[in-house]
Amino acid sequence: MIEELEARKRILESTSSGPVMWVPISMAVDGVAAETLGARLDCPVFDNSSMDGYAVRASECRTGDTLNVAGQVQAAGPDLDLILKPGEALRIFTGAAIPRGADAVIMQEDVEFVDDERTAIRIVEGVELAENIRRRGSDVCEGQRILSKGERIKPTTIGLLASQGLPNVPIFSRPMVNIVTTGDELVETGEWLGEGEIYNSNGPMLTAAVERLGGIAARFHAMDDRGHLRSVLENALHTGDFVIIAGGVSVGDRDFVKETLTDLGVTTEFWRVNVKPGKPFVFGRFEDRVSVVGLPGNPVSAFVTFSMFAGPAIQKWLGKKDVSADQPALESFSGVLGTDLENRGDRPHYLRVKVDRENGNRITPFGVQQSHAVHGLAQADALVRLAASESLQSGQSVTGWWI
Ligand code: AMP
Ligand code: MG
Repeated sequence: MIEELEARKRILESTSSGPVMWVPISMAVDGVAAETLGARLDCPVFDNSSMDGYAVRASECRTGDTLNVAGQVQAAGPDLDLILKPGEALRIFTGAAIPRGADAVIMQEDVEFVDDERTAIRIVEGVELAENIRRRGSDVCEGQRILSKGERIKPTTIGLLASQGLPNVPIFSRPMVNIVTTGDELVETGEWLGEGEIYNSNGPMLTAAVERLGGIAARFHAMDDRGHLRSVLENALHTGDFVIIAGGVSVGDRDFVKETLTDLGVTTEFWRVNVKPGKPFVFGRFEDRVSVVGLPGNPVSAFVTFSMFAGPAIQKWLGKKDVSADQPALESFSGVLGTDLENRGDRPHYLRVKVDRENGNRITPFGVQQSHAVHGLAQADALVRLAASESLQSGQSVTGWWI
């Protein structure tokens, strides 16, 4: 049996980040950048107007001045290469190139027409030098870093890449995660529940947990039968980057997972982690390519051990920054205990808790604290860890992990 930190460290050491793939930027949202990229262009690409108005010389534009309106107009689009003559104002629109000779744009709201023919304007509100001009390179300069390796790609990042004319971006590929549930008692949702049977909750729950992290999940199910289990596991091992098995990894007479994995050539790196819920946990490697994780079958144990040990490896594969053995694949926060808590056991215990965010993240245990209790798990907000034999007092600050 090994400690939690050691377990996570060993799993992370055995997992590398996934291969790099170039994808169209439209497909990259939530992907992790696999390379650092520099700007190819200055942005704005050329000096342009940030307003609809008139390109002018600021020195000719004090309140009350009048200017003749030039015969030509510069709109957004092709640069007409116009020249602003002294004493003139040149009609211009947002995004249009600034004509030569102009050093400011006056908003159309700040002028009035002198005559009905609109051949001249009077300045109602003067303009400052450079006002309403977006200078070339004022946002991004060519060569400046626009994307860092390890950075998560947001919709706004995609906007930036597009503004640089980049059609594709390199991201770490998503891992194919094969989820294998086991057990004769399990039926899928939508099916008839016979006597002694239960619905398979781990399959859908783990699928969602994998997909929330960014992995691609596929579902398999094996009966508690050596032949059946072997063929399902063999298929899963040969067609994925991760295989996550739920159930059948304990020491019951029908727990065939460990021996079957060994038969199929999986090297067991360790078995059992000193944690509650979740002691019967196995980690192995197959053909130096696939990480194999066996989780306990009870849903709370399965979820907790997935989040503690398998999740970080998936995040590492995806190239996420700051993945470390110190962090499960859940976001941490700090809160204050609303009651005393005591762990009488000899293993660290993750409790399911409610968090009152309106009350300084006040933490109280919630629901049935047993490893089959899916209602308590689903309705809880977070997990809190109590070390073996630890007692904590109401009012103490603790770290929690959102679930
Ligand atoms: P096992 O680890 O196979 O001994 O299973 C431990 C407990 O978890 C048993 O009560 C199983 O019925 C239950 N269990 C195992 N797999 C699942 C699953 N996929 N969904 C819901 N409960 C499960
Ligand atoms: Mg079982």
